[in-house]
Amino acid sequence: MTSHSEHQVRVVQLGGLMPFLREWLDERYAAPELADLGDPAGVVVAVAGGGAPVGAAEMDALPDLRAVANFGVGYDNVDVDEARRRGIAVSNTPDVLTDAVADLAAFLVVDVLRGLTAADRFVRSGAWARGERLPLTRDVRGAVVGVLGLGRIGTAAAERLEGFGAQVHYHSRSPKDVAWTYHPSPVELAAASDVLVVLTPGGAGTEGLVDAAVLDALGPDGYLVNVARGSVVDEDALVAALAAGRIAGAGLDVFADEPHVPEALLGRDDVVLLPHVGSATVQTREAMGRLVLDNVDAFLGRGELVTPVPD
Ligand code: NAP
Repeated sequence: MTSHSEHQVRVVQLGGLMPFLREWLDERYAAPELADLGDPAGVVVAVAGGGAPVGAAEMDALPDLRAVANFGVGYDNVDVDEARRRGIAVSNTPDVLTDAVADLAAFLVVDVLRGLTAADRFVRSGAWARGERLPLTRDVRGAVVGVLGLGRIGTAAAERLEGFGAQVHYHSRSPKDVAWTYHPSPVELAAASDVLVVLTPGGAGTEGLVDAAVLDALGPDGYLVNVARGSVVDEDALVAALAAGRIAGAGLDVFADEPHVPEALLGRDDVVLLPHVGSATVQTREAMGRLVLDNVDAFLGRGELVTPVPD
């Protein structure tokens, strides 16, 4: 245990961080948790993760704060406008998690089409041994996968799914320089898709982007996969659409009020429910941690972040 009283504390932990990263931060900077910080004077960098909120209250508590290093590529937990007003820089962890999250998105597409986790439950329940049969599922080859938010992860997921023989369509706010089919709105993309894969950022700009109209456009044979943020999908509308058979199923890694999953989804065999594990591999989480340290080092050393969030 490092004593925080013997040196000037320059880095603080804002919560939500994995144990290995807390150890790294403590070893390298003797960085305490905000709750254990005595005098906040001189704290220049705050490290946040796991969706821990960083807003005016946290910034008020740290009058000398100049930078927030966020563990995660999504930074909808950070009030970036408030940070900007106060001259506080913000970094995230892009690229290092793209492969892991794209893998997971592609796995969820395959799972909803082929019913893999439902088939696992079928075996475990003894239904197979009793001679029951599972319904046939759907080919990935030839399926139209609509990527909503064709960024780093969306593009990498699309490349994987092309390898399975899927046809890729997409919608982002602007068309990209790719050969895939662009649709000018989420509703038009959903109408063309067998599986709609959501990979936009969270936050105010995308809240409820997938609403009842998008789900109805996806239709009774269409599946929703959400690996972005729970806020991007109107969860009540999703639950209602599943209950009424207005969409065929869903694969969800993220939810509106994590770790709470709507009760109505828990008993459904047509949904795959994951506890926000898109980037949760040893290698990827360590790479994210290293990038957080690189940002802290760069900021303390030369007043610049390595991976600042875009303007
Ligand atoms: P990125 O490269 O910034 O891609 C996001 C894409 O979304 C951009 O290409 C952007 O394109 C598009 N977009 C933004 N607002 C939009 C809107 N209103 N409508 C349609 N498209 C919109 O980010 P990334 O690295 O791929 O990460 C994407 C997100 O994945 C993160 O922000 C995070 O929320 C989520 N994520 C989840 C997990 C997990 O564990 N489940 C892990 C990592 C990341 P335009 O600017 O052209 O619109």
